[in-house]
Amino acid sequence: MIKSPRGTRDLLPPDTALWNFVEAAVRDVFRAYNFHEIRTPIFESTELFARGVGEETDIVAKEMFTWEDRGRAESDKGQSLTLRPENTAGVVRAYIEHKLWDRGLSKLFYIGPQFRRERPQKGRYRQFYQIGAEVIGPATSGSESPARDAEVLELLATLLDRVGITDWTLELNSVGCPNDRAKFNEALRNALQPVVNKMCADCQRRAVTNPLRVFDCKVPEDQPIIETLPRISQFLDEPCRTDFEQVKEILKTVAVPYVLNDRLVRGLDYYQKTTFEFTHGALGAQNAILGGGRYDGLSEALGGPAAPGIGFAIGEDRLVLSLSESAESVVRKPDVYIAPLGAGMNREAARLARELRRHDLVVDLGDESFRLKKSFEAADKMGARYILIVGENEVKADAFALKHLASGEQVTVPRGDLPGRIGKSGTGL
Ligand code: AMP
Repeated sequence: MIKSPRGTRDLLPPDTALWNFVEAAVRDVFRAYNFHEIRTPIFESTELFARGVGEETDIVAKEMFTWEDRGRAESDKGQSLTLRPENTAGVVRAYIEHKLWDRGLSKLFYIGPQFRRERPQKGRYRQFYQIGAEVIGPATSGSESPARDAEVLELLATLLDRVGITDWTLELNSVGCPNDRAKFNEALRNALQPVVNKMCADCQRRAVTNPLRVFDCKVPEDQPIIETLPRISQFLDEPCRTDFEQVKEILKTVAVPYVLNDRLVRGLDYYQKTTFEFTHGALGAQNAILGGGRYDGLSEALGGPAAPGIGFAIGEDRLVLSLSESAESVVRKPDVYIAPLGAGMNREAARLARELRRHDLVVDLGDESFRLKKSFEAADKMGARYILIVGENEVKADAFALKHLASGEQVTVPRGDLPGRIGKSGTGL
């Protein structure tokens, strides 16, 4: 038997109804904040991620699905391509490629699959889905303002509340500006020097190449050492500190609670200033529902103009896992199951189904060869509210037997009254 590849999974009904419920709610929220959808390719040139995510990150160093194009055209040959492990780099590439700065501030959102070769476990997959957004534009558009950071965080609080996730925690940090980072890196290197040989192999490498990444370390034995290291919060210069204060002030004003976590440096190299994660207790070890931050230097790193920006990515798989809502409660069951009874009745059933569906009713139907008992069983199995019997007598009278499955009540309803009768919510006839 051929199975889906390791770390991938099929999303099946009724779960897909929950996914659609989430996506519809999220689209509503984005609309209220004037975000518009962008869809970028599932694969990009490898170089984009090397530059846009950072060579030293776990994502780029270990987790990408990369291949060499075998295209016959000279321009394709040997080009290295990668399934996108995240979507910010793709969005910023598109921002530059299409000169989106011409429209001032761009507020873009995306929903789609991402790919990382991670060790699969609950809440961690090799193909997973992210719902994300980016606010990016020339500094003159206000994209640099800490008010945008606060707006994005408040949007996220609204979004989580809207899909019914209430017990989240917003963890907030500022990782400072490049100047602060240089001083901090120096201090970190010094602090790491005497202890680094007691740490894991990854940390030993990070200590040399990019000491900030030591804070990504999950190895339990390294944690006591990491606890003693200097923190970026001690190195913020005046402008960074003031910006961070403003983000916090706005959050207080709009009543979005947060906790400060100065170990939160996030996995991407280009983050500056505000970084954040939302966690949820019910998720267990993989408890981050979403993460994001400000990436003011990213556009320039990808060869574009200065374009300060801030963004986030929600793990949609984890978002759906943390919903208290059940798939059963959001899936829409058929309003009516039409049972054609006897030869020639498929045509009449099709006509009725067409009429009823035009009234936004969910209609399913059987086949004229079915005995009535079989139709009842089918209607019951799919959870239809009503069964509508279409036999020769009904067609002649232009009135149909309509039975409410839960109560067993049955009435004869003229064709013209059917939509109103079936459409009526409630349980009885
Ligand atoms: P990141 O792009 O690493 O900041 O991830 C943002 C969010 O995407 C995380 O908070 C997770 O919710 C989700 N995520 C990241 N990697 C995975 C994965 N392998 N499987 C499922 N969700 C993931």
